[in-house]
Amino acid sequence: MQNLEPSVKSRRPVQLLEAERPDRMEEACGVFAVLAAEQPVANLAYFGLYALQHRGQESAGIAVFNEGNVCLHKDMGLVSQVFDQDVLARMPGDLAIGHNRYSTTGSSRVCNAQPVVLMTRLGAFALAHNGNLVNAAELRRAVDDGQVEFTSTTDSELIAFAIQQAVERGLDWSLAISAALELCRGAFSLVIGTPIGLFAVRDGHGIRPLVFGRLGDPEFGHWVVSSESCGLEIIGAQYVDDVLPGELVLFQEGSQEPSRRRWTEQPNRLCVFEMIYFSRPDSRFFGESLYSYRQRIGQTLARESAVDADLVIGVPDSGIPAAIGFSQVSGIPYADGLIKNRYVGRTFIQPTQAMREAGIRVKLNPLPDVLSGKRIVVIDDSIVRGTTSRKLVVALREAGATEVHMRISSPPVTHPCFYGIDTDTQDQLIAARLTLKEIEEQLKVDSLAYLSKEGMVEAAKADSGHFCTACFDGDYPIPMDQEVLSSKLMLEPSGIAAG
Ligand code: SF4
Repeated sequence: MQNLEPSVKSRRPVQLLEAERPDRMEEACGVFAVLAAEQPVANLAYFGLYALQHRGQESAGIAVFNEGNVCLHKDMGLVSQVFDQDVLARMPGDLAIGHNRYSTTGSSRVCNAQPVVLMTRLGAFALAHNGNLVNAAELRRAVDDGQVEFTSTTDSELIAFAIQQAVERGLDWSLAISAALELCRGAFSLVIGTPIGLFAVRDGHGIRPLVFGRLGDPEFGHWVVSSESCGLEIIGAQYVDDVLPGELVLFQEGSQEPSRRRWTEQPNRLCVFEMIYFSRPDSRFFGESLYSYRQRIGQTLARESAVDADLVIGVPDSGIPAAIGFSQVSGIPYADGLIKNRYVGRTFIQPTQAMREAGIRVKLNPLPDVLSGKRIVVIDDSIVRGTTSRKLVVALREAGATEVHMRISSPPVTHPCFYGIDTDTQDQLIAARLTLKEIEEQLKVDSLAYLSKEGMVEAAKADSGHFCTACFDGDYPIPMDQEVLSSKLMLEPSGIAAG
């Protein structure tokens, strides 16, 4: 195994102070893989990861398989910071596994960047993971045979060790991966590069998305797997299907069709927040773009919570399709009232309180020409702690808005996520602590309304039971270890519906 280690620099781990924590639900990771002989697979993976950059901005990595060797390059930063043409040119091969990371289990440092690459008696393999295990401590005890040298603090490395140990016990790749999956509980969409081909796996509930497609002519047998369909489109691959919940798929070079089998059967529970906010609006779920879904939930919101106003604006980017939908049904004109700076990453140096008071607005800037003298309806995708929403309302009033009516295109977030989304503890979630009236007062809005849970689910072109909605209702589809539960559930440490 060759490792391009010179690129891996020692850097201080990024630990966010409480005051610096983002006041949003934050995505966990993006995974991407391409199997295509005689193609520049590292470059293709680079573009795939670039399309998935919104899913994680802390680190990026690509592992390339070339005649039995694996070349790995990963580092902290955006895809465009970690890779350049020189690095990619030193990574020829026919199978690439790629990963963008946002830390959920394990802190933000380069040892926790992915893919994870391990050696076995059958050769090396590379694994990239989107999601979060809820039994990581149990899995660590299961794989820690006293000889394992953990190099990271991630649950993804534990999955890789479980596969490695199953191979060393004499199982083939397919059986070894199945055996390892039996030990895992939680959310996981995985791409795994091996000497016999590319495996793609989703957990039994399919909490995180994963799709696959063909690259080029079907007779080439070139395959691409991506967290979202936007990763296929950027390299011109044709969407074929979702990796189904509980499915293990093997793609082999030159093969016209993948080999597909269910390794477990459980009810579908796709994360509904993928639809509302996390995934890109041009990614397709249930046969349509999320832009269409988000527009529809805005229409539903207008029917459920009408208001008399002059203008509808959306909080960029995910609030905009819902704001357009709200405008279509309410008849209130839509306008761009907020301009977003897209280049603010998590490690961006935050302005001091004094600078903020002096008017520095790093992420969003309101347009007084549009807002002055108007009664505004502002549409956002969610409220987590409420601090950002409160600042937004102040900024809109300073820009001249005479009334501010806030409409949220999801129900109140009352429970934390354990399945790969970074949320605060429950006592930090504003809707878990306060009534609607109290939130209205705290945000200083003229009125506030949320989308109903029924409206959110019915707008999707899927069965109503298809989704995980636990952060809105506490109905967690996967039972969690007590130590995991107590890490985030401050208000109701027991009695959570699980299972
Ligand atoms: S708890 Fe919420 S954010 Fe987490 S998977 Fe379920 S719906 Fe998604």
